[in-house]
Amino acid sequence: MNTAIIVAAGSGSRFGSDTPKQFADLHGKPVIIHTIERFEACDVIDEIVLVLSASGAEKFQISKFKIQNSKLQRVVVGGSTRTESVRNGLDAVDPATEIVAVHDGARPLVSVDEITQTIAKAAETGAACLVAEVTDTIKEIDGEFICRTIDRNKLRRALTPQAFRCDVLKRAFDGVDLNDSVTDECYLVENQGVKISFVEGSARNIKITKPEDLVFAESIIATGFVSE
Ligand code: C5P
Repeated sequence: MNTAIIVAAGSGSRFGSDTPKQFADLHGKPVIIHTIERFEACDVIDEIVLVLSASGAEKFQISKFKIQNSKLQRVVVGGSTRTESVRNGLDAVDPATEIVAVHDGARPLVSVDEITQTIAKAAETGAACLVAEVTDTIKEIDGEFICRTIDRNKLRRALTPQAFRCDVLKRAFDGVDLNDSVTDECYLVENQGVKISFVEGSARNIKITKPEDLVFAESIIATGFVSE
């Protein structure tokens, strides 16, 4: 079986609102509900573990947005770092899980096809990351000056989901300092010397971070642009 861990326990300090970004309204329902629905619609996902803050979990329980016959089996409380939140989710996955996909709750525009392809790649190689091309020219800076231009053809932006054989991800979390916040799980798996394959995804799969990201997401959803 394949399990998705959706992490949404962040405080969203850059969002600048009392409502954390994962509960902000997007086209009539909270961002997190859109995200869960993408995984509900994905045939290769059997179970969903949702990681929320303690107050978020309370808010979620009383929300009117209930999903019928949901794959959402467990809601667990996250930690003060993303690393701790993912580890708490990982502790709650069904022991029969072969592939585990970690996804940011704040990425509601992921397509079902991107999830399916990332799971398939991880099943084949052990570890796979959804990525997007870099379209700007990238400069390295040193103090006040630009010192180098980096070949963007060799760069990719790491998106989520990031999927792993469950034993690979568990090993990567062994002995990790949970206070040491890492921004993605591939970093921990890379540190184990494991080669990570990738799936080319769409730049549309943004992480809602700032208020203007909601405007973009709203227009994408309103125009029906999130494809299967
Ligand atoms: O902070 P950032 O935008 O990188 O967070 C990415 C995802 O990780 C978000 O969905 C956020 O809710 C989640 N997160 C978490 N626990 C934390 C920090 C972030 O679940 N302590």
